[in-house]
Amino acid sequence: RTRAENKIHTYTILNPYRVRPLSEEERSRGERQILEFPGRGQVICSSTVAGQKPKVFSYNVVFEPAASQEDLVEYSGVKRLLEMAVEGFSCTAFCYGQTGSGKTHTLTGPPGLAQGKPDCWRGDVCRGNGSPRYTRIERGASPYSQEHGLVVRSFVHLFRLIHERPESHFVLKASFLEIYNEKVIDLLNPGTARKPLQVRWSKESRSFYVENLFTVDCEELDDLFAVLEEGMRNRAVGAHAMNAHSSRSHTLLCVRVRRDLRATGDVTCSTHGKINFVDLAGSEMTKKTHSRGKTLEEANNINKSLMVLGYCIAQLSDGKKRGHIPYRDSKLTKLLADSLAGNGVTLMIACIAPTRSNLSETINTLRYAARAK
Ligand code: ADP
Ligand code: MG
Repeated sequence: RTRAENKIHTYTILNPYRVRPLSEEERSRGERQILEFPGRGQVICSSTVAGQKPKVFSYNVVFEPAASQEDLVEYSGVKRLLEMAVEGFSCTAFCYGQTGSGKTHTLTGPPGLAQGKPDCWRGDVCRGNGSPRYTRIERGASPYSQEHGLVVRSFVHLFRLIHERPESHFVLKASFLEIYNEKVIDLLNPGTARKPLQVRWSKESRSFYVENLFTVDCEELDDLFAVLEEGMRNRAVGAHAMNAHSSRSHTLLCVRVRRDLRATGDVTCSTHGKINFVDLAGSEMTKKTHSRGKTLEEANNINKSLMVLGYCIAQLSDGKKRGHIPYRDSKLTKLLADSLAGNGVTLMIACIAPTRSNLSETINTLRYAARAK
């Protein structure tokens, strides 16, 4: 095995970062973009201190402000991640960055559009032998609206991959949860929404799971869209009840992919892959955890998951894979443990706001992303 292959099978495929464009409001305030992109995966961050040299960071892939949602799906590595999920690996795509840096936009697109389906697929889906199938009908160049995010596009790609493997039978199951204050809330089952669910260890599958989490069998593409839509709606309801809720919570949408392959005779063997889409809490929260005036519980909980995740990533990327990785220290890392290590692959998209007023958070994010390489 080459070094590159080893890397793919033990940790990250790519950790691209994406810089969002200046917003109208920022423009009108006279804010300017402080980042430059000289190419070759580099980003130059000009300093606010006169006479100080600009900082240079390098990455595998850079998405500049002009990059489209389509570019992101084509070049971030998520398509490879989906293939691996179909082949039985545990995969995670997550967005990291401060509040307002474009995490939710990258994953699900702007609010309102998150619920819209890609045009070409509406009503074009049919069932086939219990295995998820779609019927492809070309209408125009792209089935998507320009703003459809990574999740919607990944769903369509996943069905395409399944369609290309008619020799196998597939079973897809989806769930959608939120972690707020170290409490796991089911976004698909509002009935239990007030009651946090427990994370437990399964001896059988040798991984952590959420007890009583609502899981939806997805035979059609529309079923996956419905999961996204329902979860986003329930998250918005929760967000309304609590100020700044969405910047403090993590959401995790998981699609499990079971593939049954017919071996010799009547024997079937199955692979169990999955893909997690994680919208992390704002990275500025790790600092707020230490701020004064917080109760102990809040300080411990608000972003324990985010801090532990950062710690796990640092440990893993130091090549200390055999050493102690503190997965068990937070809910999120427990649930992501199998894709962070073992049989898994993680794609981390670092999201960045381009303005001067965000400089210190931007540098933190660039460092965090560089560490995860
Ligand atoms: P976060 O989830 O990280 O807090 P959002 O995704 O909500 O950030 O993005 C903040 C704002 O910036 C939103 O109004 C969003 O629509 C806009 N935005 C983010 N990324 C982009 C982008 N690539 N292109 C255009 N607008 C964007
Ligand atoms: Mg968000």
